[in-house]
Amino acid sequence: MSASLDSGLSPTPRTARLQLFAELRGPATVPRPLDARALAALAANPGCRRRALLDGAGVDKSALAAKLGSPAPFGQSQFAIVRGNSFEAKVKADGGRELLRLIGVEEPGAVSVPDLAAAGPQGRVARTALALREATAAGTWTLLDHPLLALEVAGSPVYLEPDAVVVRPDGTWTVVEIKSFPMVDGAADASKVGAAARQAAVYVLALERVAAVTEGARVAQSVLLVCPKDFSNVPTASVVDVRKQRAVTRRQLARLTRVDEIADALPEGTSFDVVERSAAELTAAVESVPHQYAPECLAACELAFHCRARSREADAVETLGRSVRGELGGLPTVGAVLAASRGEAGDPEDPAVAALCRARALREEALAAADVSSERGGRSCR
Ligand code: SF4
Repeated sequence: MSASLDSGLSPTPRTARLQLFAELRGPATVPRPLDARALAALAANPGCRRRALLDGAGVDKSALAAKLGSPAPFGQSQFAIVRGNSFEAKVKADGGRELLRLIGVEEPGAVSVPDLAAAGPQGRVARTALALREATAAGTWTLLDHPLLALEVAGSPVYLEPDAVVVRPDGTWTVVEIKSFPMVDGAADASKVGAAARQAAVYVLALERVAAVTEGARVAQSVLLVCPKDFSNVPTASVVDVRKQRAVTRRQLARLTRVDEIADALPEGTSFDVVERSAAELTAAVESVPHQYAPECLAACELAFHCRARSREADAVETLGRSVRGELGGLPTVGAVLAASRGEAGDPEDPAVAALCRARALREEALAAADVSSERGGRSCR
């Protein structure tokens, strides 16, 4: 996997790229490590060059957003963290048997829960790989509690820690994601399930690297999502197919190796050093990288408030959502959309323009019927 993600897509040697990234975030700034959530968020907005560059260079986007004057509140409250930890302990209770019961295995026989402790992330990754190999060879049910996996992204190792991985006797490895949002009547909030699936897909990719060198191993393309049932503290589980998310994420990670190409297009001297650079300099640096704001960014990216403000200033239709943007074709601003609806802009043959004219006519008819005067002018539409 690492070879394919980093196989000659970038012309910049790894050391030069790492040096470039260090210059971009500031030599005194420790790189912000990517995690599965960040990789999944990147995959969710594949066209955003700004996020790709900042994440690839290890820039602390929270600190950057704060310095730009648009801090975005992210992270869980202490209460939510404690509650989440207690729920996770409950899911993994009874030596992993509780979790196996959730996937319908009532009598698993012996369940192995290997100790994955080791020194440093590289040691933990090696220990996890060994435990996976041993479990697959043994052919018994095994629960890996917080294993550590690695993916090489943009020339740097990214360490990923799924909640658990279950190894079945037939050698199938299944990622387990434990979330605190509720599953009500067997269904959970679709956007939260989607985010969890994207995150789990990153783990699947990382696991596949280990499976590729483990005889008899296979990584399941569906993950087990465990949530509290109906607002209680009782766990319930659902199997989520992540094939699509895996494919998208894989493609995106391959694209990440090109962040040095994005950096090449920056003006000379551009830096995102939140320690040394002023707010004005950082604003100019951020604005020099094209972004692709969508309302979904508000739940996924620390720069969301900044990018939203810029999109609103530009009157961009992206602020209305990706689906609306897609429907409006070649009309880039809200002003252009309104003008098109009045028949003052756009190609009348364009179906989007025709639909806007029709919508406006219907609205005015409705207002007239309600005896509301409408004094908006403009040439009439066909
Ligand atoms: S908030 Fe801005 S930088 Fe972050 S993903 Fe959205 S457009 Fe990109």
